[in-house]
Amino acid sequence: MGLLPVLADLVLPRTCAGCGVPGRSLCPRCAVLLTVPRLAQPRRFPPGFPPTVAAGAYAGAVRPVVNAFKEHGRAELARPLGAALALAVAAVRTGVPGAGPVVLVPVPASRAALAARGRDHVRELTLRAVAVLRAEGVVAEQRRLLRRRGRVRDSAGLTAAQRRANLAGTFAADPGGGRPPEAALLVLVDDVVTTGATLCAAAAVLEQRVPEGGGPVLAAVVAATPRPSAASAAGVTGSPRYRVRNVPPGHHDRLSGQGSCD
Ligand SMILES: [Zn+2]
Repeated sequence: MGLLPVLADLVLPRTCAGCGVPGRSLCPRCAVLLTVPRLAQPRRFPPGFPPTVAAGAYAGAVRPVVNAFKEHGRAELARPLGAALALAVAAVRTGVPGAGPVVLVPVPASRAALAARGRDHVRELTLRAVAVLRAEGVVAEQRRLLRRRGRVRDSAGLTAAQRRANLAGTFAADPGGGRPPEAALLVLVDDVVTTGATLCAAAAVLEQRVPEGGGPVLAAVVAATPRPSAASAAGVTGSPRYRVRNVPPGHHDRLSGQGSCD
């Protein structure tokens, strides 16, 4: 830990980023909200959406926690949020019995986002998650297998069709990331999933990088926007059924095709 964070700990009163209670950066009551892995189920389920597990719901106290880390420089939250991401990776991995090494592939930030924040917060979370997984005995590493290309507008306020157009061609394979190990399971990682459009676009490109013997491209996020009508998929850990449960009736046949993402 650098000198500045140490001094800040001494001088600044800490409050929970989720609920404002004085004490820790993340109080136990808020921290537990990120320990309930569930399937991410976007409202309009996009064909081609990879099986995705979130550590918690992007709602209630979780929203200000993620935003404090992402937008307001609460760097100390990297530890609990990275642990939450590791939990989501571990949960989604259980859907592929006998999975090989896990390669976490961070969704690359746009140039504009990098410039605005001055850091790549998803990469920070990815590195934390890798450390947690390794400490638990999982063979894990992170690789930048994707890069952004071109200019993409902020997707806020766009319709589904506009999002599709906006994201088409957003990502390209990044040869600088090297070749993933044989039989590696590629897991896309991001902070939050809402519409699923970004994960769809990233997964479509990442499919090309799956090594020999590797499983399907999966995804893991810290938090997912909850879908009120969706039955809770909590307890996904240990169940290989998530790939089926992740697909609404009538979408099975389209999952393997060239689906569009929104
Ligand atoms: Zn709290």
